[in-house]
Amino acid sequence: MTTEQAYFLTVALINLVLAFSGTRIKDPEGKQKSILFFIVAFSANFISWFLYVFDINVFLKIVSVILSSVFIWGMVVFSYKRCEHPLPLTLISAIFLINCTALGYFTYAGQLYKALHVSALFVPLAFCLIGYLFLKTKKHRNPSDIILAYACFFMALVVATRSLLLQFSPELFSATIVSSQVIWPAFSVISGVFALLSFTEEVQSKLQKESNTDQLTGLANRRSMDTILKKEWARADRYQRPLALVMLDVDFFKNYNDHYGHQAGDDRLKEVAQLLLQSGQRAGDLAVRYGGEEFLLILPDTDAATAMHLAKKICASIAELEISHQYSLLGILTLSAGIAEVSKSNYRNISELLRAADSALYLAKENGRNQAQLAPSNTE
Ligand code: GH3
Ligand code: MG
Ligand code: MG
Repeated sequence: MTTEQAYFLTVALINLVLAFSGTRIKDPEGKQKSILFFIVAFSANFISWFLYVFDINVFLKIVSVILSSVFIWGMVVFSYKRCEHPLPLTLISAIFLINCTALGYFTYAGQLYKALHVSALFVPLAFCLIGYLFLKTKKHRNPSDIILAYACFFMALVVATRSLLLQFSPELFSATIVSSQVIWPAFSVISGVFALLSFTEEVQSKLQKESNTDQLTGLANRRSMDTILKKEWARADRYQRPLALVMLDVDFFKNYNDHYGHQAGDDRLKEVAQLLLQSGQRAGDLAVRYGGEEFLLILPDTDAATAMHLAKKICASIAELEISHQYSLLGILTLSAGIAEVSKSNYRNISELLRAADSALYLAKENGRNQAQLAPSNTE
């Protein structure tokens, strides 16, 4: 087997393995992540290997250089798709065609150095573009994307440097050819593995987010509440900082459901959730769907008076929202709130704190609903 054959077969097989690995990664909806790129990359390199089985002539060489351009610019198209950035199809197609024509022409004319210089211009251009897309435009960037971006910048540098070296020291030709036949497969492995890892990390963080989010309202769920509350409790205890909870419950919601239907009830719960998110919360505050029509606000560094002010504001905003909408036709909803504040070790644990907020909420219900009450242990 010639060196070229060994090279193309290696890169083709690497992409075949990556394509198979890609079939194992599915997103939470069960959709398969893109393996198309690896299949195209495998095909391009495999065909090139196949061409070199024959007595290679100029025509086959041209086909082979065109296939290598397909590989490079295929990566660019894949990166645009991956980074969810609109693909400037005309521009990329034009660059691809110029790249192919120039490479094809110099290969046809037997001007190997000029063909190499053409690659030294277009390959770094493509790789810098990919690096830029992953580093600057990808929305949910993860560590693998950053490694991928820097691997591309590194390759851009290697290809450009090789061309410069050959310009000044032509005797290095065979050395650079051999080194590039090691560097390219290595790059294929690195970029392919990190592209797949990037998919995996994305799926993982999506799943993690979903497992911490309430499906109906998009607020944090009980599971994520437990984690955050433990953290905030420990912080409040260690730094002797206040920590307030506001427990909210929709008044007479059962009647509402019975009267207007469960779907209308769901819609109203979503609105309450939106209002909680918009009600002037500070960074670090957390709104949780605590139960069916119960919500909890975790307010670090907040004392009872401030929490009371916020709770009253939320109750008033709900009333305002009800009046401004034609929802009053659908009956007016109100909220009751119970507030508890951790200060001077007044509660022994988180359960006691939650119970206190719940008792305060009960008090608000007892006193006629549509109001906020402070936990008895916070009132003296
Ligand atoms: P109170 O003022 O004492 O809180 O009265 P309430 O009717 O709101 O309280 P209760 O606990 O008796 O009823 C809560 C109702 O909330 C019962 C259930 O139908 C409704 N509910 C709970 N979760 C959901 C949900 O996800 N969607 C809808 N539409 N309704 C829900
Ligand atoms: Mg209720
Ligand atoms: Mg309730």
